[in-house]
Amino acid sequence: MDRADDEIITDFEAANLTVRTHAVAANFRTAQRLASPSLVAGVVKADAYGLGLTPVAKALVDAGCDTFFVARLDEGIALRMLARRARIFVLDGAQPDMVPGLISHNLTPVLNSLAEIAAWSAAARATKTQLDAAVHIDTGMNRLGLAASELNALAAEPARMLSGLRVVLWMSHLACSDEPDNKMNAMQLERFKTALAMLPEAPASLSASGGILLGKDYLFDMVRPGLALYGGAPHPGYANPFQPAVRLTTKIMQVRHAPKGETVGYSATYRLKRPSVLATAALGYADGIFRTLSNSGSVGINGIKAPVVGRVSMDLLTFDVTDVPGTITAGQDVELIGDTVSLEDIATAADTITYEILTSLSRRARRQYEETP
Ligand SMILES: *Cc1c(COP(=O)(O)O)cnc(C)c1O
Repeated sequence: MDRADDEIITDFEAANLTVRTHAVAANFRTAQRLASPSLVAGVVKADAYGLGLTPVAKALVDAGCDTFFVARLDEGIALRMLARRARIFVLDGAQPDMVPGLISHNLTPVLNSLAEIAAWSAAARATKTQLDAAVHIDTGMNRLGLAASELNALAAEPARMLSGLRVVLWMSHLACSDEPDNKMNAMQLERFKTALAMLPEAPASLSASGGILLGKDYLFDMVRPGLALYGGAPHPGYANPFQPAVRLTTKIMQVRHAPKGETVGYSATYRLKRPSVLATAALGYADGIFRTLSNSGSVGINGIKAPVVGRVSMDLLTFDVTDVPGTITAGQDVELIGDTVSLEDIATAADTITYEILTSLSRRARRQYEETP
């Protein structure tokens, strides 16, 4: 091996994760335009899909977002500190141990069963107040929400079952909204409309990111995008009206020239078919770079894609830069996610979805929040 032209840099920098909060704000406005006149709520569960709850929520509040969804009670409590006046829905509902925390932080549970409705109604009577609630109706996910039999029971005696409560939202969730041609979408829409016709009048919400692009019928009074705000494509494979909000880059640590026939990385899974120029960067599966990207996917260098070769290691990633024009040297920037390699590109190559890529983003990377373009 020709070691003469190997290069090593010593003042090595950690990876950089740039979160463009200005893009999150722009995506919120795009969602408003697409869903108009429906209200756009921001879904910021799981630390704003791994991007960081505090800066993301701040950007959304500044952009005029006044309604949020989180999954867990503690996420709602954290968000309450950042968004004092916002409506905050908690998707986990009102499990018995959550009730005091929901009340003391003025959080609105998304009630997922008749048992939760009863518990929240009892809390309203016990505190002699009226409590706001969203009610989740299952239309085909078979995960959370009122099943058909529970819906019928509620529709038979809504005043009694909802006593002490003010329903501020009837909601449901689509199973296949990432596939515009999936028949499940229309089926769930029909079930949701049927349910609404049985229940007292209140605002309604069916769509997350994918549903916003399914047409006016799916908008109702409120939409609940998460992924779209973070730049993910609601309909993978179709045009994406939302802009990238995440960029993960690092620097090349070492460049080497390796002859034909050599192998790369653990288990020697890749054999060079020609004399090659290989570059290695300090990012691996411990940084959320999925091991399924081994011999799959690419990184971006100077706007050109360079294929990942060999196995992804815990802390390192090697790629083939033979076909990248110009001389590649240690210290040069490599993009893992961003404008050259989209979230969809990396998700497809890793055999997962953009959501999992986002929520697995490196905790080791140095995070930078970009508030202006
Ligand atoms: C996560 C979630 C959303 C947001 O979904 P995206 O596909 O990220 O837009 C909306 N509603 C519910 C009930 C969710 O669980």
